[in-house]
Amino acid sequence: MRTPMIAGNWKMNKTEAEALNLIRVLMQWVRSYSGVEVLICPPFTSLSTLNKLLVSSPILLGAQNISDQPPGAFTGEISATMAAEFCTHVILGHSERRAYYGEENVLINRKLKAAISADLIPVLCVGEVLTEREAGKADHVVSHQLQEALGGIHLEDPTKMIIAYEPVWAIGTGRSASPEEISDLIARVIRPTLSGLWGEGISQGIRVLYGGSVNSKNAGGFFNTAEIDGALVGGASLTAEKFLGIIEKTQKI
Ligand code: PEP
Repeated sequence: MRTPMIAGNWKMNKTEAEALNLIRVLMQWVRSYSGVEVLICPPFTSLSTLNKLLVSSPILLGAQNISDQPPGAFTGEISATMAAEFCTHVILGHSERRAYYGEENVLINRKLKAAISADLIPVLCVGEVLTEREAGKADHVVSHQLQEALGGIHLEDPTKMIIAYEPVWAIGTGRSASPEEISDLIARVIRPTLSGLWGEGISQGIRVLYGGSVNSKNAGGFFNTAEIDGALVGGASLTAEKFLGIIEKTQKI
């Protein structure tokens, strides 16, 4: 019922020339896969160029962040409507923005509302840090992040919202949660929280991705579980071979 998605978050990597080189390889191969959506989130500086190149490609484009404010005097920021000229999705609430730029759920909530008003599909990242996990608070943290970030948002179409469960201790560390642990948290915490916000039907239609040190070797294990609808990939999205190796794993489910 939910189409799997593999999303690549390039973070602060790739000049425009490097971005073009990588996307040209991905474009050649992505057409050969079926039943999976592929989303690439490059830095803002490459969005316009990649958007032109991808015009007849199934690869989707997303931004990695947007401002919570409408266009105006906000030096250094990019508004939702400006991003929406070039892409269809936006990553919000990534743990790096929470940790390094002090983004809290209240701000993320405003960014989500700005994204939805501009017809951007948010990929909302949630996840606990290691100390929270060790203290047995992962369920509470994830549920609280979802409720605060999504509060006051009306959603009728579940395909217009994507959740990425990314335990912070698994991002870029080579450590990942087990498919069973992730599935369990999605079923016990994420879907019931989404159901509380928008009802069971909508909750069941929202894709929940896993993120945290996904690679072509461990990806199959994640995609074979009913609750995990794909992956948000950081490091392994920076080379075509590694990223395609992950997409490939969706074909054998
Ligand atoms: C991420 O930054 O969202 C991420 C999952 O990174 P990595 O795949 O490198 O752990």
